[in-house]
Amino acid sequence: MLDYLSQIRSLQSMLQGKEISCTQLTRAYLDAMDRDNPKLNAYVTATPDAALAAAKRVDEKLANGEALSPLEGIPMTLKDNISTKDIPTTCCSKILEGYVPIYDATVWKLLKEQNAVLLGKTNMDEFAMGSSCETSCFGGAANPHNLDHVAGGSSGGVASAVGGNLAAYGLGSDTGGSIRQPASFCGLVGLKPTYGAVSRFGLVAYASSLDQIGPITTNVEDTALVYDQICQYDPMDSTSKGAQGDTASHLKDPVQGKKIGIAKEYLEGLKPEVEAAIQQAMKTYEAMGCELVEISLPALKYALPVYYILACAEASSNLGRYDGIRYGYQADSYRNTHDMICKTRSAGFGKEVQRRILLGTYVLSSGYYDAYYKKAQNLRGSIVRTFREAFAHCDAILAPTVPTTSFPKGFTSQDPIVTYQTDICTVPVNICGLPAVSIPCGFDEKNLPIGMQLIGNRFAEANILNLAWQFEQATQGQFNKKVEGGLAL
Ligand code: GLN
Repeated sequence: MLDYLSQIRSLQSMLQGKEISCTQLTRAYLDAMDRDNPKLNAYVTATPDAALAAAKRVDEKLANGEALSPLEGIPMTLKDNISTKDIPTTCCSKILEGYVPIYDATVWKLLKEQNAVLLGKTNMDEFAMGSSCETSCFGGAANPHNLDHVAGGSSGGVASAVGGNLAAYGLGSDTGGSIRQPASFCGLVGLKPTYGAVSRFGLVAYASSLDQIGPITTNVEDTALVYDQICQYDPMDSTSKGAQGDTASHLKDPVQGKKIGIAKEYLEGLKPEVEAAIQQAMKTYEAMGCELVEISLPALKYALPVYYILACAEASSNLGRYDGIRYGYQADSYRNTHDMICKTRSAGFGKEVQRRILLGTYVLSSGYYDAYYKKAQNLRGSIVRTFREAFAHCDAILAPTVPTTSFPKGFTSQDPIVTYQTDICTVPVNICGLPAVSIPCGFDEKNLPIGMQLIGNRFAEANILNLAWQFEQATQGQFNKKVEGGLAL
């Protein structure tokens, strides 16, 4: 199987051609998980019974000669902040210990209806706050390319599983880079859709004005196939708009003459190998007949503080619901209700989550609201305008996904500010609600993957996936290198 060709389509043609049954395929993945998950720590909950039950339904359909839906029978995973009825959803936090949702997130409902085979729920930074998966109460997930490095975060478990061949694809969430950064660290493709394109009903909220759900896959076509199935309008999410869902049919569109914006603000402070890979990608696009245009994004310098002020403010409000009464964990002994809530939250939330709740409460408190929260909201408008102006001159923007490659284990526990700074290239699109896809574009001196982003205008997913797919073809998937281990077909 060539790594840059659709894994989803080739698995489905194997199923349809009766080369393998869905039960055999599912068992092969479950065996691979038993063998490799102890070293990757990608999965926090395995769901073999549900997976085999779905596989059985697919095999029955195949036996009856029925056609399969686009994702039917394909083994996959969900980040553990996507609600799954009767299956624990912990957000990798002690405070949600024992919590089992009574309903499905819309994205899972859509996939379940077409017999997607859920292998299990994957590891993440606690409540999606982090960049290495190491704030998880289950410990971090390893990078399949190098086990001494992290898979990234916060959707690190999805990337570790997909990169380690323990799932064909997965869904993660991206509030400030959590799909694109782990995809970049693990040599995968990850799409953060336009705000409103994919329903967030059932996604445990971190920062509601920024959160989006999207796919992580091994190649661009699979990202398009998955996105097209999940971008439906949903009356259960008041911010849902839905989208066309026809990106897969535009992958092969010609890209000659398309204008790719390059902003110097995105190219500052990069690790030299990352910079070289981006420069090389620019040359590739030029050779493909695209035009590189210089653009300027002056307001980008405000993006990081704006993100951390708004995200923490929204988190402090969203996480108010974990009081020890309604969900999960509750402190054992306490004097009164106030003491119970205090003890539950102190023991239930990890250090990073507590830091963000405190920061968020601070920037929202009277006296500081104008100086921080309101100012950040105003600057958000400037950042939105800066991108709007840029898109008057180009069709898409090319930028690194992260200034660096995967961190060694333990790096993010040293200085939170240093870690926050590595989100500089991913947070701007969340602030503006724009779509961006991260695709592999090189390797560093340790052979760790490098990723780049194609950023599009609102609802221009088809355009950025088209540019991404054409790049993958032009470079013959040389950067989508598969690692050993996991399922081997
Ligand atoms: N690393 C960023 C943060 O810590 C992004 C997280 C996310 O997208 N969920 O907030």
